[in-house]
Amino acid sequence: MFLKNCIKNKMVKSPQRISKIRYLMNTFFEIEVLCERYSSIIEIAFGEIKRLERLLSRFQNESEISLVNCAAGNSPIKVSDETLNLIKSSLKFSSITDGGFNITICPLVELWKLAEEKNGVPTEEEIKNVISLIDFKEIEVEEVKKTVFLKKKGMKIDLGAIGKGYAVDRAIKILKENGITQAMVNAGGNLYILGEHIGGNPSSIGIPNPLKPDEIIAKIDLTDRAISTSGNYERFFTIDGRQFGHIINPVTGYPENRVLSVSIVADTAIKADALSTGILVMGFERGMKLIESLNNVEGIIITNNKEDGMQIDISEGLKGKGISKYV
Ligand code: AMP
Ligand code: MG
Repeated sequence: MFLKNCIKNKMVKSPQRISKIRYLMNTFFEIEVLCERYSSIIEIAFGEIKRLERLLSRFQNESEISLVNCAAGNSPIKVSDETLNLIKSSLKFSSITDGGFNITICPLVELWKLAEEKNGVPTEEEIKNVISLIDFKEIEVEEVKKTVFLKKKGMKIDLGAIGKGYAVDRAIKILKENGITQAMVNAGGNLYILGEHIGGNPSSIGIPNPLKPDEIIAKIDLTDRAISTSGNYERFFTIDGRQFGHIINPVTGYPENRVLSVSIVADTAIKADALSTGILVMGFERGMKLIESLNNVEGIIITNNKEDGMQIDISEGLKGKGISKYV
């Protein structure tokens, strides 16, 4: 979706623009590079994303995350440095967002998924029971032994709100190591723009209208920056004809709907990914305050203002800096 508003028309014939799309980590990854001649570098970057999917997906039985989930309440599991570091980063984002971002959310995600299959909203009792399993402080990370332990039986980790951002950063790193200076890696709205277009122009990235996602509501110019948009319009559970968003408030147990979407611009895609999810849960006031307090982080929060329609708020650092609004 972003590609349409991105590099496509601006790159000139030589060097060539090469773009490929692959379905990985439950989303479409697109890698676009600008290089003198065809190279296999895009395939190497996709290989890295595939490796990360095998390591981190909770849907793959042999992944380290699945092993940790299976052993919840029983035993710590030894994991790779990479998984350990990603879980440590996740805990840091939980603490920054006051628990809005919480990778132990998985049992609630599963409860709502089941509710969709049964076509009945979960009862308060069911939600209350599951909420007792949602607590990032019950993840025990042993640095020396390199183990991760979920202390309560039934706890489960879901890296769906941070893994794609991490994969984007890894793919960009590989492209850079192989001499690429201009590229875009886009994982379904979590993307990083490396370098400028030929001619020195920044890439213009579209922010979707959360009420009509096929439309662009604003554009933002980016160079050597990541952007990630979280919105409950992106994916949802449909129950009894009603749509419930996929981002769940760990405190209430219900899909969060106070904010329509949060776009975070940051120096890394992992940061943009985790913060966009966490801030959507935090809500406008606390969320914008957090954005303003962080270095290298800017944001756009779109709320549903019943009187004026949609309200778009932009952090100070973005004002007057290559952002154009259409409503
Ligand atoms: P994103 O699209 O990056 O905002 O991530 C949303 C995905 O993360 C959902 O589909 C869930 O798998 C998971 N998720 C839902 N709620 C939360 C939350 N509060 N904290 C962390 N991950 C969440
Ligand atoms: Mg996210």
